[in-house]
Formats: sequence, C-alpha cells, structure tokens
Amino acid sequence: MRQKIVAGNWKMNKTLEEANILASEVTGMVADEVKGDAKVIFCVPFPYLLPIKNQLGNNTRIFVGAQNCSEHESGAYTGEVSAPMLKSMGIPYVILGHSERRQYFGEDGKLLAKKVDVALKHGLSPIFCCGEPLEVREANTHEALVKKQVEESLFHLDADALKKVVVAYEPVWAIGTGKTASAQQAQDMHAVIRTHLASKYGQAVADTIIILYGGSVNAANAKELFSCPDVDGGLVGGASLKSRDFTEVIKGA
Ligand code: 13P
Repeated sequence: MRQKIVAGNWKMNKTLEEANILASEVTGMVADEVKGDAKVIFCVPFPYLLPIKNQLGNNTRIFVGAQNCSEHESGAYTGEVSAPMLKSMGIPYVILGHSERRQYFGEDGKLLAKKVDVALKHGLSPIFCCGEPLEVREANTHEALVKKQVEESLFHLDADALKKVVVAYEPVWAIGTGKTASAQQAQDMHAVIRTHLASKYGQAVADTIIILYGGSVNAANAKELFSCPDVDGGLVGGASLKSRDFTEVIKGA
C-alpha cells in the first residue's frame, strides 16, 4: 500500500500572519477530525518555511515543503534558494517543475533534471510535476507529452533515487480553472505514468511511486479522485488556502 499524501501548494499567497492562522487552523482540524494516516504537506513560500515549520513543531502528520529550488548548490545567483539551504532548515520536500515555473520562468526538462539531482543529493524529496496544456489534450497527444516530461527529468535516476521522488500529474487546463479532470481521466494518465515507470524500472519499483493528482481538487471531488487505484492523493492549490476546504480535501484521502 502506498502512502497517501495531500500537499497544499500555497503558491504566492498569504501574509505571514495569514499563513500562521491557516497552518494553525488546519493543524487543529486535522487533529480533531481526520482519521486515517494521509500525510499532509504545506508547500509554502520560502520566507514562511521556517516560521511554519517551527509552528508545526514535532507534528507527525503535517510537513513543510518548498515550491522550487535552484539547480546550483551555492554561489553568485542573486535571489535564488538552494537545496542545501532547504536541507539545513530541515525541509523534507520541494516541488519541482510546476507548470507555472515551466510557463513563466522557462524551466524545461533538462533544467528540471538538474534540479531533481541537486534536491536528491541533499536528501530532499522532489514533488516532480508533469502535465499537458489544453491544446495538447485536444490534439490527443497528452500521453506522449507527459511520458516525455517524465523521461527527460527522471529517467536518468537509478531505482533507489527514483523511489524518493513523488510525481504530481497536473493537467495545465485543470489548474486554477475549476475544470477538474474526471476521475477516469486522472486514473488513465496515472496508469500511463506508472506503466511508463515500470517499463524502465520494473513493476515492483513503479508500484512504490506515489503519484498525486493536481488541478482544481476541492472538497467535493477529492474523495472520488483519491479513490482511483493509481491516484495516491493530491497537490492542491486554491482549496489549500482555506482551512475548512483543505481539511475536507484531506478527509477525501
Ligand atoms: P488549483 O488546485 O488551484 O487548480 O491548483 C493546482 C496546482 O497548481 C497545485 O500545484
């Protein structure tokens, strides 16, 4: 059985005070209401990593993750944050290759392979995002594109390294649009990703890889999505910014 994970991607939202309130409310609601052992991750803006981590203390269910890191380990890269810095702060997860980074910051598969490597080298687990834009889905070439994204940035890893990666399938047309992939569409693509991983690493390894779905996950659709056999939880944007909504999503896992 794979661990279920529900990760909230706060993106570039909230003041520090609002972030503290959100984390505190979710923590309370999870403790009081959520049964099961789904792991929760708050992927917060860099400046909030330590305050939120300190606020969580030794909470055993809720963890903190970053939303990006540099491909470089240190040096003259003004404004960047490195994997060793995140590691030194005790941050276990980092989102890499989110479609907003690919789209607005020109991140491509080759660069992401380097980021994956530097994150793994320093003991961080990448939450590696892949997913097709609308025109690719409409052209019915989405499977080929997502397989290529996975190949370009992950297939150079050995099996032990791959096992530390969490994959997040996030169709771009479903992000922030309210247009969720159907449970069938999500399951189909997750199965494609897992089969593709199996073609390289074998079925036993592929069966251990956690694959999250992201794109307009909310309280109403989480349970159905997370019940699909190859969907191991979610990477949640908008609904992770409201404590009640996010708690309901977590309950869906
Ligand atoms: P939404 O849940 O707001 O669609 O965002 C998804 C996402 O991009 C998570 O990384």
